[in-house]
Amino acid sequence: MTDFQITILGSNSAISNHGRHPTAQLVSMHQLQFLVDCGEGTQERLHENKIKWFKIDYIFISHLHGDHYFGLIGLLTTFNLLKRTAPLTIFAPKDLKKIISMQLKASNTSLNYLIKFVSTLDDEKRLILDLPVCEVYSFPLKHKIPTTGFLFVEKAEPRLLDLQKLEKYDIAKSDYKLLKQGFDVKDKNGKKIKNSLLTTKGKSPRSYAFCSDTMYNLPMVKIIKNVDLLYHEATFLNEHLQRANETKHSTALQAAQIAKKANAKKLLLGHFSSRYLDLSVLQEEAQTIFKNVVLAIEGEVFKV
Ligand SMILES: [Zn+2]
Repeated sequence: MTDFQITILGSNSAISNHGRHPTAQLVSMHQLQFLVDCGEGTQERLHENKIKWFKIDYIFISHLHGDHYFGLIGLLTTFNLLKRTAPLTIFAPKDLKKIISMQLKASNTSLNYLIKFVSTLDDEKRLILDLPVCEVYSFPLKHKIPTTGFLFVEKAEPRLLDLQKLEKYDIAKSDYKLLKQGFDVKDKNGKKIKNSLLTTKGKSPRSYAFCSDTMYNLPMVKIIKNVDLLYHEATFLNEHLQRANETKHSTALQAAQIAKKANAKKLLLGHFSSRYLDLSVLQEEAQTIFKNVVLAIEGEVFKV
């Protein structure tokens, strides 16, 4: 099975602490590498994790709180120093283009490569990237400023040919492509043969949802329904629910409630408050209502 995995580059909220850093993740799928959020120091985390930077052609920024993008100008100018020429697409709230342009202008830096900025909108689920192997959607989260989550969905694989049956029914090789696409075909005598007699279902498409930062956000459940892996922020324990509501963040318990309602297969908790040195308390709280919970520990890789 082709790799589809998440590498955690940063999972702390607000500041670096306890050896944890602000939010950044690498989503790898079918030879593609997507950087999701780019907290301060992300380029160092990429280096530490031996990630081939030049393969990153798409960056997704959830919102413009500094702990989710302050690493970006450093990364972009390092790309330049490393003589990058491949274009880069950045999906982010619209003001990011102004911020980056101003930083480049003030330092009289012109890049060797093109950056295409695509503005995200936090009004509804939107298809923002459509590639041969996957689709990426943005969707609204509930936070202090406009914020979107991102949903990465593999495209369905073609149906698998049953070679013995193809021989038995005497199907022309020129029809194999149609069969893989799910169409019925005719045998050499012109008799229609149902696709399901000649093929089996290909691998089910997998999906990953990134939800940070957000407070408890029920409307997104239908968007992330049945997701294979759900990254959901869990800044606080439920004993700090009031603080979570004030700052528009979630508790571990709320993250688990969303995972349960969405029928997610696995929940990945992150964006931890520095008040927690030992993160197992957050995992245990979530597991009181949703069993399959893991912690976003930096350097760890989670298969989707
Ligand atoms: Zn935030």
